[in-house]
Amino acid sequence: MTDELRIGVDLGGTKTEAVVVRLGGDARDRPDVVAKRRVPTARDLGYDHIVAQTAGLVRDVAKDAGLSSLEAIAVGVGMPGSTTTRLPDGSRSDVALVKNSNTTCLNGRPFRADLSRALGKEIAFSNDASCFALAEAVWGAAAGARVAFGVILGTGVGGGLVFRDASGAARAWDGAQGIAGEWGHVILDPTGGPPCYCGRRGCIETYLSGPAIEAAYAERTGVRRPLREIAELEARGDEGARELFADRVEIFGRALAVVIDVVDPDVVVLGGGVSNLDVLYGAGVRAVARWVFSDHLATRIVKNTLGDSAGVLGAALLRA
Ligand SMILES: [Zn+2]
Repeated sequence: MTDELRIGVDLGGTKTEAVVVRLGGDARDRPDVVAKRRVPTARDLGYDHIVAQTAGLVRDVAKDAGLSSLEAIAVGVGMPGSTTTRLPDGSRSDVALVKNSNTTCLNGRPFRADLSRALGKEIAFSNDASCFALAEAVWGAAAGARVAFGVILGTGVGGGLVFRDASGAARAWDGAQGIAGEWGHVILDPTGGPPCYCGRRGCIETYLSGPAIEAAYAERTGVRRPLREIAELEARGDEGARELFADRVEIFGRALAVVIDVVDPDVVVLGGGVSNLDVLYGAGVRAVARWVFSDHLATRIVKNTLGDSAGVLGAALLRA
């Protein structure tokens, strides 16, 4: 495989990014980004608009890369949620429908089929956290790992599992119902926890997402601050910020120990805005080690190395 061009799309809750990448001859080499575009996701304008906007973005980025047609290029899309063919009444749909997306206007809609039709070609589709985990397992912090768990701690909390097969190729594992790695909606406290958009209470996301930490700080102190400021206060010894971080680090430890007990991955890679908190790699790792069912924590817990582009690069690795 040499110099193959691919298109990756990361359809996020706030922005949509598309890239054209050139994969190198050695699969471990980071790909060259030939063209890149980013637009705000117009989630308020509804489903049809998001389909049209995503298709337009793919065509534009292809044109930027000098491609006159999409015919010979694979297109992969990563987004929150997964797909199902099961309808609410138990019957089957003949096309896959989106479920569990926090861009809720996509739920119940055949996004993959509609985008494929709009582009005139079959596209590949996966969960955004799976794309993140895949890119980090191929080119990033989990390169070479047999089993990696990628976690996104951002506006939402998600996760993706990647296994390396006998040939050494990394593959995202989506599971029997497409929810493998959906760590953010594991419930820690079903009755007393904060309400979650998924309709239940006490999901991991309601404790460890950026907005959840900011909301908890505001509730404790009466002052609203962005996460970055709360982290600065914590580093300077501010009591409110320190107590909050100690609480969240403990929750992080319990929540991640569950995954490690079940999957026992070689590496856990953290991404998203919350992954910039240094406390996770010190006290956070020690909390995981306390809760895991082992006298020794061999799993490495590390920060991503591809930054914001991991999701879109992972999407470019998907195959229809
Ligand atoms: Zn939830």
